[in-house]
Amino acid sequence: MLRIAGIEPFSTVDWPGKLACVAFLAGCPWACPYCQNYILRSIDSATVNEDHLFEFLRKRQGLLDGVVFSGGEPLVQQALPEVARCVRQMGFAVGLHTCGAYPERLRQMLPYVDWVGLDVKAPWDAYERVTGAYGSGERARESLDAVLAAGKELETRTTWHPSLLSQADISTIAHDLAARGVRTWAVQAYRHVGTAGTLPNETVYPSDVPSDLPDLFEHYEFRRA
Ligand code: SF4
Repeated sequence: MLRIAGIEPFSTVDWPGKLACVAFLAGCPWACPYCQNYILRSIDSATVNEDHLFEFLRKRQGLLDGVVFSGGEPLVQQALPEVARCVRQMGFAVGLHTCGAYPERLRQMLPYVDWVGLDVKAPWDAYERVTGAYGSGERARESLDAVLAAGKELETRTTWHPSLLSQADISTIAHDLAARGVRTWAVQAYRHVGTAGTLPNETVYPSDVPSDLPDLFEHYEFRRA
């Protein structure tokens, strides 16, 4: 069963250009200190299962464009690809927020996914600095390659806290993504409110992003704290 921590009935921000509901799935294997949803990292944060989601969706057919699976890390749950298939059969488009920790399960799910928001947390060889998880960069890179190979609509985003990533790191990330053919990248300035509070309360500004980077992408956005 899918273990769901909560459902946001209407959102216009979690899937750009779509009116969607968001299912926040419980559990995440990584431990990013800037996590805004760190309470959801425990699988025990689940309160409902997919029956509740399907009941909710039956009443929203024709009113919502799609469903976004978020978390936590939604792909921590083995049941997700099959649930996504059923949601699609009901006529909803499917969006996915993922950190890329489960490339194999992502491949299983991609046939039922219309849009992916993928976190790119650091240069691939520096991932552990952010996630605390050995081998996380390799898994995230594999996930990115899977989404690109499947030709799915993709937004990549990088959360930037100045003590975790340098300007040179940001530059490395952007050039690597552009070289792989990524067209959409957002820099998200660290926001202290809602985190576990282990990082200094500092952030970054649009002018901190090296000026050559936005032009590498068709769509670039700086999201403020
Ligand atoms: S991968 Fe996402 S949900 Fe997991 S700890 Fe990092 S920011 Fe939080």
